[in-house]
Amino acid sequence: MSNLVEWYGLECRKCLRHIVLPHRIPQGSSTHPWYWPTGETLAWFLHPDCGYLSLYSESDVRLIAVEPDQNPLPVPLWRVEVPCDHDNCDKRIVVHTRGKSRGAAGAAVSDAGFGLKCPDGHIVSNPPGLHILEIEEKRENRS
Ligand SMILES: [Zn+2]
Ligand SMILES: [Zn+2]
Repeated sequence: MSNLVEWYGLECRKCLRHIVLPHRIPQGSSTHPWYWPTGETLAWFLHPDCGYLSLYSESDVRLIAVEPDQNPLPVPLWRVEVPCDHDNCDKRIVVHTRGKSRGAAGAAVSDAGFGLKCPDGHIVSNPPGLHILEIEEKRENRS
């Protein structure tokens, strides 16, 4: 049996595969070695393989063992901000997903359709414009 490499991730609630989180060196107030959006207790993650969108908390983060020759981070993680399209609502929904490009990540989130709900409970079906940021990953050589 080979030595497995440890990563952290979230388990998709639909297909039970993983959304791997970037590694972060703990610094400042952060005590965790994984990426988590600053200041958020709950965060939306979209599993790109099956398109399932779900709300997670940091207590959902799991340790995942991966074969050393497997790259668990084949494509970047993106933070996609979706403005609510309801009249007089300025709330935003932040969704994280993996995708090979900014455009692919945006399209996957737009396709989540009725799964998107702003913090005030409005269903966002036609978001007016997405703000997409790539999350930096620390690719460590841990062989
Ligand atoms: Zn899935
Ligand atoms: Zn709203």
